[in-house]
Amino acid sequence: MKLYDTASGKPQDLSPIDGERFRFYCCGPTVYGPAHIGNFRTFILQDVLRRTLEIGGLHTYHVRNLTDVDDKTIKGAIAADIPLETFTQGWTEKFHADCAALNCLPPHDEPSAVAHIPEQIQMIESLVEKGHAYHADDGSVYFKISSFPEYGRLSKLDERELDLGRTQNERTSTADEYEKDSLSDFVLWKAHKEEDGAYFWESPWGKGRPGWHLECSAMIQKYLGDSFDLHSGGVDLVFPHHENEIAQSKCACDGEFANHWFHVTHLLVDGRKMSKSLGNFYTLGDLEEKGYSAMEVRYTLLGAHYRKPMNFTLDSLHAAREALGKLSRAIHEFQEEYGVREIPAFKDSCQEKDFGLFQDAWNILQFDLNTQACIGKVFAQLKRLKALSKSDAKDSWIGLNAVLHALGVRVPTFTPPTQVTIPPEITELAEKRAVAKAQKDWTTCDTLRDELKGQGWQVIDDKDGWQVKPL
Ligand SMILES: [Zn+2]
Repeated sequence: MKLYDTASGKPQDLSPIDGERFRFYCCGPTVYGPAHIGNFRTFILQDVLRRTLEIGGLHTYHVRNLTDVDDKTIKGAIAADIPLETFTQGWTEKFHADCAALNCLPPHDEPSAVAHIPEQIQMIESLVEKGHAYHADDGSVYFKISSFPEYGRLSKLDERELDLGRTQNERTSTADEYEKDSLSDFVLWKAHKEEDGAYFWESPWGKGRPGWHLECSAMIQKYLGDSFDLHSGGVDLVFPHHENEIAQSKCACDGEFANHWFHVTHLLVDGRKMSKSLGNFYTLGDLEEKGYSAMEVRYTLLGAHYRKPMNFTLDSLHAAREALGKLSRAIHEFQEEYGVREIPAFKDSCQEKDFGLFQDAWNILQFDLNTQACIGKVFAQLKRLKALSKSDAKDSWIGLNAVLHALGVRVPTFTPPTQVTIPPEITELAEKRAVAKAQKDWTTCDTLRDELKGQGWQVIDDKDGWQVKPL
C-alpha cells in the first residue's frame, strides 16, 4: 500500500520496519468536552488506514493517547467543581461511545498523560542533561529549539515567515497551544500556577505539570520505542505539536522517531471553518439529535480525499442516507439472486484474493487511501452484480465485503417498502387542500397541511399534482 508522507512530500510504501507489525501512533483527543466531527474525520481515516492494512495482510499495533491534563481539562474540571479525574473520565467514556457508534476499532493501547508523569519527567531530565532544555527563572523548563538544527523540517518552516520574538518572554511559551506563526522555546515542565489549583506533581524542578507536547514523545518511547512506522493526526498538529514531538524525541532518544507522517486535512461545515459562534459546530450527538445515524456521519466523512478539505453539509448526510439505502438494496438483491443469506463478518486477509468487480475499488484504496474514488468505484459496479456467473459472483461478493469492511461502513439491513393504506379522511383533507391551493387560498392551504401533519401525514406537491405520505 502507498500513502503520501508529509515529511518527504511523496507517496511511500507502507511496510513495517521490524518486518512483523506495522506500529503506528495517533494523537488522541483532549478529554474536556465532546469531540467534533472534524476530529472524527481524522480518527475515521486512521481507522480506514488500519483496516486496509489488516485486510492487506499486515499485523498492526495502534496506539492513541488521551490528553487528560492540560490547560483545557484543568479549566473544565475547576469550572465543573469536580476532580480532574472524574471530569476527564466522563469525557473519555463519551469519546469511546462515539467511536464505537462510528465503528472505529479501539486502539491496541490507549495511554493517558496523567498515567505517565514519571516517564515525562525522565524525558525532561534527559533533555536537560544533554543541553536541549533549560530551567528558566519562571520555574518552568523549556526546550531550546536552537539546540536542534532540524527543527521545522516537517512543517517546512524555512519556507514560511515567522515571528522570532524579541524579548526573552516572547521567545518562550507556556501555553499548551501557541500561535501558529511564532517560533518559541516551548514548555516541557510548567511551574505550578494558581489557576492550576490542586493539579500538580512533584519534580526535580518543583511543583508543576508536563507541557502538552511532551506526553506523546514520552508515551511513544514507552509503547513504540525510538523508531516506529507511522505517526498521524489532523493537519493542524503539524506545527507546532508534531514539530515539537520530533525535537523532544530525537534529542532524548536514539532512533529516527516516525518513519512516515500521515495528516488528515481540515473539515469545513457549510463552506466555513467550524465554530460555535457561526452555529456550524457539530458533535456526533448534535447530528444524532437531528435524526442522522452515526453510520450516515461516517459515510459522509469518507466522501472526500483525506488530503483535500472536505465541505460537510446536512445535504451530504441526506445523500449518505440515500447511498446507504442503495447499497442495502443491491446487497439484498445479490443475496436473493445467489442464495447468500448474510453479509459475513470480514476476517481473513485478502492479500492473494481476486476481488472481482471490486478489485478497482480495492486498488484505489491501496493508493493513498482514496476513499472518495473507492466509493465511486463501488457504485459504478453495483448494477453489474446481478449478471455474474456463480464463481465470479463469489469473488465479487468477497471483494464488496472487503471494501466495505476497510471503509468501516455497516450497511443497514434492507427493509422492503411497505404498502401504505391512506385512510379516506386523509385523502379528503388532501383534496380540499389541493382545491384551496388552486384558488390561491394560502391560509386554508397551510391550515390543512398542518392538520394533515397533526395526523401523521405529509403532503407533497409534484408535477402530477399531489401525494400524501406517512411522516
Ligand atoms: Zn501528539
